[in-house]
Amino acid sequence: MSAFYREKVLSVRHWTDTLFSFTATRDSGFRFQNGQFAMIGLEVEGRPLLRAYSMASANHEEELEFFSIKVADGPLTSKLQKIREGDTILVGRKATGTLITDNLIPGKRLLLLSTGTGLAPFASLIKDPDVYERYETIVLVHGCRQVSELAYGEELVAKLRDDELFGPLLSEKLLYYPTVTREPFRNRGRITDLITSEQLFNDIHQPPLDIATDRIMMCGSPGMLEELRQLFETRDFLEGSHSQPGHFVIEKAFVER
Ligand SMILES: Cc1cc2nc3c(=O)[nH]c(=O)nc-3n(C[C@H](O)[C@H](O)[C@H](O)COP(=O)(O)OP(=O)(O)OC[C@H]3O[C@@H](n4cnc5c(N)ncnc54)[C@H](O)[C@@H]3O)c2cc1C
Repeated sequence: MSAFYREKVLSVRHWTDTLFSFTATRDSGFRFQNGQFAMIGLEVEGRPLLRAYSMASANHEEELEFFSIKVADGPLTSKLQKIREGDTILVGRKATGTLITDNLIPGKRLLLLSTGTGLAPFASLIKDPDVYERYETIVLVHGCRQVSELAYGEELVAKLRDDELFGPLLSEKLLYYPTVTREPFRNRGRITDLITSEQLFNDIHQPPLDIATDRIMMCGSPGMLEELRQLFETRDFLEGSHSQPGHFVIEKAFVER
């Protein structure tokens, strides 16, 4: 048995010069938990060229979806950004990752903190009815440099708000907070600063950070994650894992090479 499923690209959307998303068929044997990632890629000169990708689709959905960066000289994404409907992608059989609800001890408010393509695992999680059962409030924060980079997340949330099943859940529980750092926008600033200054909580009319109620998942650049880890650890939040659930869990949105 091959280590990969060969899936057909169903649609591709380019959001900016540096971001695109695509959907693909999903083998019925491919199982994952919402928030996890798998190795995906292309066959190049007869060999698999693979990178880690979070599933942006939820595990109840028939198709797979991914939200991707375009790195001009990136071995995979210089080619992946050119895929079209009908092309074949490789999807590794095994999904893994720390951004799953079982890695957190029970709480009342779930903060999903992301930058850039770090939104992808949360796109999956906000389509999971179980997340809405576990938490009273879910705060989805997406930080980008430019307003145009928010478009994928904005459309996703808007679509879910119109959805028959998710619409009522979102209006009751989801607070969506997009923020940009390099352009004028209604919310501005880096996530770390917005939490430290409590601006985030003031803007969404919520109480400030509280270890008794808050559980956190974060996915973004390695630098942002390190800053956030320090911020939460100085407030006694503990990192969770498969073996020991905690107050927060972290996944890198990419690795610096
Ligand atoms: C757990 C995990 C999950 C990931 N999920 C996703 C995902 O859902 N979507 C996605 O686009 N990428 C994701 N990545 C990154 C992905 O694995 C690749 O790095 C990316 O597709 C670029 O591949 P490449 O071969 O073109 O360039 P690489 O050689 O892999 O990367 C070259 C450089 O590009 C930069 N870079 C790479 N990925 C990103 C990114 N996503 N955002 C900003 N800068 C980046 C980094 O500086 C990196 O050193 C994930 C990485 C990890 C570790």
